Amino acid sequence: MSSVRVRIAPSPTGPTHVGTAYQALFDRLFADKFGGRFILRIEDTDQDRSRREYETQLMDSLKWIGIDWDEGPDVGGDYGPYRQSERLEIYREHAKILVDSGHAYYCFCSSDRLAEMRADQERNKKPLGYDRRCRNLSPSEVDQRLQQGEDYVIRLKMPKEGVCEIEDKLRGKIEFDYAQSDDQVILKSDGFPTYHLAVVVDDFHMKISHVIRGEEWITSTPKHLVLYDSFGWEPPEFIHLPLLLNRDGTKMSKRRNPTSIEYYRRAGYSADALLNYLALMAYPPLNDEEKVSLAELVQDFDIRKINLGGSIFDMDKLTWLNGRYLREDRTPQQILGEMKEWLVNDEQFLGIVSLLHERMETLGDFMPKAAFFFAREVNPSEQDLLPKNRETGEVSQMLQTAIWALDSTANWDAQGIESKVRFVADFWDWPVREVTVPLTVALTGSKVGPPLFETIILLGIDIVRMRLINGIEALGGLSKKKAKKLEKEWKKV
Ligand code: GLU
Repeated sequence: MSSVRVRIAPSPTGPTHVGTAYQALFDRLFADKFGGRFILRIEDTDQDRSRREYETQLMDSLKWIGIDWDEGPDVGGDYGPYRQSERLEIYREHAKILVDSGHAYYCFCSSDRLAEMRADQERNKKPLGYDRRCRNLSPSEVDQRLQQGEDYVIRLKMPKEGVCEIEDKLRGKIEFDYAQSDDQVILKSDGFPTYHLAVVVDDFHMKISHVIRGEEWITSTPKHLVLYDSFGWEPPEFIHLPLLLNRDGTKMSKRRNPTSIEYYRRAGYSADALLNYLALMAYPPLNDEEKVSLAELVQDFDIRKINLGGSIFDMDKLTWLNGRYLREDRTPQQILGEMKEWLVNDEQFLGIVSLLHERMETLGDFMPKAAFFFAREVNPSEQDLLPKNRETGEVSQMLQTAIWALDSTANWDAQGIESKVRFVADFWDWPVREVTVPLTVALTGSKVGPPLFETIILLGIDIVRMRLINGIEALGGLSKKKAKKLEKEWKKV
């Protein structure tokens, strides 16, 4: 059996990022090419932000796009458990092993002391980082403080000098100066591991042969290599994939682009087209043909063909490719089938009928009034978006704060949403109508829509966010500078 074992280790802290599917795709291709196995491991050690429903959504979205895994929390496997929150004992034991072997140490510094230290470093323009005060405490002092029940974290002893060499299979040798590295916390005071400890322990025990992950993790790799070395383990191979980018070359973020798989699914994109598009983000077309299937990709797959430039995620191109799938690969019958699985079904219709109930005089009123629900875009006009006496700039800013408010809505129900909308009105000190009307226009394309809060529930946050961004664009956009300033004020309240 092949010894190739690859994994993704997503954190279930939000909607499924297209970058997760992109990485999973390259893992799947790599595993299939070499007859290996692909593992899904859930990195849920951030107790505050991890949520089980995001984990469920993640698995559902990956399956929808057409990627499956051979081992994972749902299907099991020989190296489980596959959820990090179920492996805490293993991490604690390993942190202890490192302390005992002199590679890590207890640190009792309080958060106040760390904050002071940081402020001092900032004031004096010194490099930021832990000053290693606890690195050389005597064993008897450590014992005594532990016995007194003082809070502690465990830190890894990083080398103070020398050069770390990372061998990346795509990028070749990458060098890092150890002098710039910090004595990283590996076990937090709540007994949970940090990412660095957990990822290394799990990759080793799950016999991961190749760590394929995004470029943004390169700077963490020196810490991981020190951990492997401290344990006396052989590290896996590293492959850092190029990032997905916004049009302006920055890392793809939901501020400019919809980033969740759930958005593309809800907006009516097809799974095979989206998967194909994600492959093109780092892999060249096959014989000049951009439309390629997973099977063709596995057949052709050669890691050396991955281009490192970083790829701009271009919605127009994705839409074009999606059109080709519909035209070239589907009969009308099949399109109808796909539409039924999407939104053209009783369950969805019933939700909308309930909203439009009071607004219909004949059945013929339904489709025109419901069209916004199914539309990819609603193209609101600048004129409709502007309440009387309001200017484009202030309405754009109001819409931006509405995005932030809705993004942070934990209770996605009418009450939860209403309180956020009112909060936005209070923030601006505007009459509620001057908030609800532009929102209605941005979300439905027209001034008269069904009840706003229910509409927001039905559309879901992913569509809502994108339509509000489009509303801001229709008003001429919001400069980065303005958005930053606004965010500061927003965060104060
Ligand atoms: N939890 C990290 C992520 O979300 C995993 C990084 C890694 O693959 O090492 O990308």
